[in-house]
Amino acid sequence: MELRLYDTLSREKRTFLPLDANNVRMYVCGPTVYDFAHIGNARPVIVFDVLFRLLRHIYGEAHVKYVRNITDVDDKINDRAARDFPGLPLNEAIRKVTEQTGRQFHADVDALGCLRPTVEPRATEHIGEMREIIERLIAGGFAYVAEDHVLFSPQAMNAANSSLPRYGALSKRSLDEMIAGARVDVAPYKRDATDFVLWKPSKPGEPSWPSPAGIKAEGRPGWHVECSAMAWKHLGEHFDIHGGGIDLVFPHHENEVAQSCCAFHRERMANYWMHNGFLQVESEKMSKSLGNFITIHELLADWPGEVLRLNMLKTHYRSPIDWTMKSLEESAKTLDDWYRLAADAAPGKPAASVIEPLLDDLNTPLAIAALHGLRGNDVSALAGSLRLLGFLSESAAQWEGRKQQASGVDANEVERLIAERTAARSRKDFGESDRIRDLLAAMGVAIKDSKEGTTWEIAR
Ligand SMILES: [Zn+2]
Repeated sequence: MELRLYDTLSREKRTFLPLDANNVRMYVCGPTVYDFAHIGNARPVIVFDVLFRLLRHIYGEAHVKYVRNITDVDDKINDRAARDFPGLPLNEAIRKVTEQTGRQFHADVDALGCLRPTVEPRATEHIGEMREIIERLIAGGFAYVAEDHVLFSPQAMNAANSSLPRYGALSKRSLDEMIAGARVDVAPYKRDATDFVLWKPSKPGEPSWPSPAGIKAEGRPGWHVECSAMAWKHLGEHFDIHGGGIDLVFPHHENEVAQSCCAFHRERMANYWMHNGFLQVESEKMSKSLGNFITIHELLADWPGEVLRLNMLKTHYRSPIDWTMKSLEESAKTLDDWYRLAADAAPGKPAASVIEPLLDDLNTPLAIAALHGLRGNDVSALAGSLRLLGFLSESAAQWEGRKQQASGVDANEVERLIAERTAARSRKDFGESDRIRDLLAAMGVAIKDSKEGTTWEIAR
């Protein structure tokens, strides 16, 4: 099986060749835990879960390591903690915010049918690795200390006469353009406008750790160095795939590459850089001010997680996605159909017609079209393919029962009415039998008569 992936750095689809087929390694930037995750945050989680499942299918479950971090030190977390728990010492309030939000994130993404990554490192547990990277960068002349900050110098990186990558290569920006575009009110401790923070002093009451480079004041890491440190600790200096949303290419991923390559004197940090496209809602950019900001948690109150998952995968991961109610309704109907057909079938081998498009840079829309093609002719391949993609986690009865719950229909009442109708039909009282059918229809219940008796389902 040949897997081809689009690499943001080389701007082309390339055959995926792992550094070690017995230990395929992928890092994806995870959430900053300060608030409910929104549906845009769900996109990389679902997309890279599909890639994780596909890699496990190709290389074996024991041979793929997926690391997705949790950022638990950040200004947004501090602000939220001070707002939500004003009576508590800040550090305690921060712990409450990160624990609650982390739990909520797991509940959300579990419901979306995503496997847990192999490792979920927390930034606050990797401060030692961050300090070490920073020390190496200073020793190599790529970073400097100024007013208790440590700053990385992209200009020093690009001036180095070595096999290091150029700063700006991933996002295709030249340093000159960045200098020209930099704001004028640059922090006074920066030598150049493009320098970015590796370490900064903590304000009183904020989380703080002993600083690197002999800085006396305690401090805390910048965001970018967190991912370099966690990727290094769990995947090594050089690994296979680094993923995240397209909005992370610059500056976050550009800075990760700079830090890791300069600290370890490497030409590359990851061999393939993958980025999912933007998500908008009903053709508009999602934002708190437009009032169309939807959390995963809110959507899960109305829809099973697998409906959200399917709805996400109907669009290719690199294309922008328009999240609409109409599309959600269609996704729900499709899943109803698949559950009815395949949930209780013995799952066979995933169909080649489904795997092939996935091998071509995760072409999930084509894979879904192939699933539709299987529905009439190979139910066991349909069941196996759906499971590979993270669907059919419930039985057909559980799925139907959940729909009934969501619709407020009382299954016992429906069964009672159907029994009454059957009795009316057997005594040839068709007026009464029709009246009950209409009553059920008004409740949103569709019935179907066959030789075996009467079955029913919720008509969405
Ligand atoms: Zn990151």
